[in-house]
Amino acid sequence: MRTLLIAGNWKMNGSKALLDAFASAFAPPALADRVEVAMIVPFPYLDAARRAFESTPLKLGAQTLNPEASGAHTGEVSASMLGECGVTYVLVGHSERRALYGETDADVLARAKTALENDLTPILCVGETLEEREAGRTMDVVLAQVEAVLSPLAPTARQRLVIAYEPVWAIGTGRTATPEQAQEVMAGIRGYLARLDTTLAEGMVLLYGGSMNAGNAAELLAKPDIDGGLVGGASLKTDDFLAICQSA
Ligand code: PEP
Repeated sequence: MRTLLIAGNWKMNGSKALLDAFASAFAPPALADRVEVAMIVPFPYLDAARRAFESTPLKLGAQTLNPEASGAHTGEVSASMLGECGVTYVLVGHSERRALYGETDADVLARAKTALENDLTPILCVGETLEEREAGRTMDVVLAQVEAVLSPLAPTARQRLVIAYEPVWAIGTGRTATPEQAQEVMAGIRGYLARLDTTLAEGMVLLYGGSMNAGNAAELLAKPDIDGGLVGGASLKTDDFLAICQSA
């Protein structure tokens, strides 16, 4: 049975006070055994988060990384730095990075490779825009994004990824994909994985992201191919986020 993962993505939000509020809300944790929870916080909060979350089950995530090991990359952060701060997960290919910072599939692959080489777990984000959905291209777009990262990786490396399906039109809009819409695409992703390797498909943790909240999480998480959530807005509120984690 796959582990369920709920990952909160603070984006460029939050504060040290919010870290402390989460540390209190998750100690004691009151989570089911097979549920893992990660908080993906802005870089400046990583070290403080590690200390604040010490006596909670919360794992730490970062929102991106530079694919190079070190050097003249002002403003960037390397995988080894993230490792030193206690990071477990790192987002690669979030739609905001693709749209606002021009990250291509090749950039996403480079970041995923560097993360894996440094024992970080990449959460590969994929998803279609509204225009692509309305043109009937959802599955083609999503599978092309998955394939661009998975096919160049060695089979053992592929197994260490998490994939988040995040329809771009549902991110931060309050417009959630229906559980059926999400399940359809995520079953398609798992079907693609099964064509590569059935063990890979059975083991891969697939997250849904896009306006997940305390009111819709249980229905989404009940779907057979949804193994957790990537949660933006609702991860900034302790009660909502805890309720999502408890509905998993
Ligand atoms: C996200 O940032 O990945 C996300 C899913 O955001 P929201 O939950 O706010 O839609």
